Amino acid sequence: MFYEPAPTPGELKFWLFGIPVRVHPFFWLIGLVLGPLTTAGLRENLAWITAFFIGILIHELGHAALLRGLGHQPWIVLYGFGGLTGHGPRTAYRRLGPQWIQQIMVSAAGPAAGFLAAGVIVAAILASGRAVILHVPFWPLVFPVFDPGGMSPLFAKFLYDMLFVTVAYGFLNLLPVLPLDGGQIARALLTRFDPRDGLRKALVISVVVAVVVAVTAVVKLGFGNGLFLGLLFGWLAVNNYQALQQA
Ligand SMILES: [Zn+2]
Repeated sequence: MFYEPAPTPGELKFWLFGIPVRVHPFFWLIGLVLGPLTTAGLRENLAWITAFFIGILIHELGHAALLRGLGHQPWIVLYGFGGLTGHGPRTAYRRLGPQWIQQIMVSAAGPAAGFLAAGVIVAAILASGRAVILHVPFWPLVFPVFDPGGMSPLFAKFLYDMLFVTVAYGFLNLLPVLPLDGGQIARALLTRFDPRDGLRKALVISVVVAVVVAVTAVVKLGFGNGLFLGLLFGWLAVNNYQALQQA
């Protein structure tokens, strides 16, 4: 469902830790729409888009690191749906357990990298003598909030945005909706323990959760995040429903 987008003019291309990274122009567009576009100034929007870029890149680097550990040559694309990490033909064979365990580890590594980055930021804030509290907007989303006392407001906003992207993007990706990371984990587990009917079960869960998230997002969040999440999960629900008809 998430294919590697074709190269486009206006792409940013660079290598990071030996991994080729492409940034599609739509990535910046979707980042701006999700940010405080209409309510904040240029500097606040720049702080947000920088955090959005770094946070999603960290997530994809988590997947890429695990893929490389397994002997694949990973690539990363940041595009209109966030980030995508894939790989070319395998160049070396390193086994870290059975195939289904490997799949789960590669899928979990993205959110784990984001949570680790959030943990490092929280540790640095605590080390600077500032208080951090864990806010639970709804279970199981746990979100760290800190007291910026004495920090420049722009830097505090950047740190807040970094925590938001690393935690929220990881959490969102762990939802059991294919082809998100959580959906991949659910499919690996379900097909491992029920080879005959596991895929169908993973698709049913994907449809139900995607519909619930789409409706909740539009009702609870407004324009921006709500509309984006609503459209994204609505589209995921339709895709998984179609896949279910063919399964
Ligand atoms: Zn991921």
